[in-house]
Amino acid sequence: MAKKTVAITGGAGFIGSHLCDRLIKDEYRVICLDNLITGSKENIRHLFKNKNFIFSEHNVSKYINIKGRVDFVLHFASLASPKDYLRFPIQTLKAGMLGTHNALGLAKAKKAKFMLASTSEVYGDPDVHPQTEEYWGNVNPIGQRSCYDESKRSAEALVMAYLRMHKINTRIIRIFNTYGPRMRINDGRVVPNFIYQALTNKPLTVYGKGAQTRSFCYVTDLIEGIIKLMNINYNLPLNLGNPKEFTICELAGLIKEIIPTRSKIVYKPLPADDPKQRQPDISKAKKILGWQPEIQLKQGLMQTLEWFRVLSLDKLKNNDIKYNKLDL
Ligand code: UDP
Repeated sequence: MAKKTVAITGGAGFIGSHLCDRLIKDEYRVICLDNLITGSKENIRHLFKNKNFIFSEHNVSKYINIKGRVDFVLHFASLASPKDYLRFPIQTLKAGMLGTHNALGLAKAKKAKFMLASTSEVYGDPDVHPQTEEYWGNVNPIGQRSCYDESKRSAEALVMAYLRMHKINTRIIRIFNTYGPRMRINDGRVVPNFIYQALTNKPLTVYGKGAQTRSFCYVTDLIEGIIKLMNINYNLPLNLGNPKEFTICELAGLIKEIIPTRSKIVYKPLPADDPKQRQPDISKAKKILGWQPEIQLKQGLMQTLEWFRVLSLDKLKNNDIKYNKLDL
């Protein structure tokens, strides 16, 4: 039987590249699209010699042209770190809105199944805790984070319209904070920031009082949930994340526990609209997929740390933000 073909946008990114690895291992043919703004060929270089892997440098906000059969379209292209999307708000909106439209158009043309990588940010600064899929969210539509939040909310609306109008077999996952190897050390998110700071004995920068919470999911746990959802038909949004909640101060404490460091903690202003709490209710994913995360935060952080350690100290010291390519 011919191998099934998956087209994945954002396939050279942090989550996308782990997904490419898993799909290749599961014997899919993989067409990986990425414009390499925040993704990197280094994340997928080991797959270049595999005959089932094709890489195409492409910006998803432009028309996607793929010859031949495609069975599944996974739309994972996005600037996902606050530091990135604050710097590129328009490109973030384009990837979420135009990119989703183009990826859905590809799925429609190929009669393929579709999955949108949405986000816990659709819940904004939630006043329902933990967040269930039924909660509509509390998003500031004109705030600094709105370029990300609203692009994903409109992406979800587009997916539901294609499901209802064109009967595309769609899926929406709402991904909660995920971490692991291949995150960019300088992407500004709290896990790489704290690891970098601890490794270089710089102060750990806690924003606000550090009482805000997040729930951190190790990347392989997330990938397992995604693969399970690909294999069943469920069209409504599904939370994927680790329900164990930590304050940012607790995370800083854990980092200092696992990395021998002289770093102290310094407090910096809390960014605008920074959600005060975030914890997924994953009852639905447990029931529908028979899935739940397995990796504890401490174990996952140690595995992530191992990966960051292999970066040379020079690279760590030179922590200026660098974007690989600016084809926007
Ligand atoms: N944060 C922090 N110090 C940092 C980076 C982030 O205290 O150096 C906080 C940030 O204010 C937020 C949480 O950590 O409350 C998670 O931030 P991140 O950027 O990782 O992701 P978010 O969940 O906000 O999208």
